[in-house]
Amino acid sequence: MTRRCTDELMALDIRQLARDGYLATDRMNWAQWTRREGVSITLHTQARHDGLWVEWRTRATGESTWHAFNRLLTLERTALHFGSRVWWHCPRCDKRVAVLYGGRELACRHCWGANYRSQRETLEDRAARQANKLRRKLGWQAGILSDTGGRPKGMHTKTYLRLLNEHTRRSEVALGYLGESLDRLTGRLKSRLQC
Ligand SMILES: [Zn+2]
Repeated sequence: MTRRCTDELMALDIRQLARDGYLATDRMNWAQWTRREGVSITLHTQARHDGLWVEWRTRATGESTWHAFNRLLTLERTALHFGSRVWWHCPRCDKRVAVLYGGRELACRHCWGANYRSQRETLEDRAARQANKLRRKLGWQAGILSDTGGRPKGMHTKTYLRLLNEHTRRSEVALGYLGESLDRLTGRLKSRLQC
């Protein structure tokens, strides 16, 4: 999955589709969404006894080729006091959800979010690892939060400046992401304390 936030993606709300008659069997439906970033999505659906067949294609503004996708999505109905409620099963995690988000893939917001987080963590880890490798070369104490040392004896000034510059860059990336993670955590704790 590409790294995207759910608000950049098309939201497919099964409750809305049900209200609009998309779940009537043997009926071919279609709809078109145009996203504000200029991504146009055409959706065809066909209700079947085993789920909803969805064909969709996406094209960004300025792109001449459409990218086509299709998938049979499993639906589940839960009984309500009057009537029933319909749910998607996320194609990735199989959780029961009301909304699936799509671009080139369809998945629930937890799946898009988990993927986004894991990619972010990889970036942080990689930058910290690279910074530590440079610290070893410079003969400095390990750990990006440790103090920086000076130029090691016998190392050319040019080499030292190159490594120093590279170290600053890597540790800024690692610490920048770390800072964002801490901000997110603080925000979550604050909102939890408020309720
Ligand atoms: Zn999911």
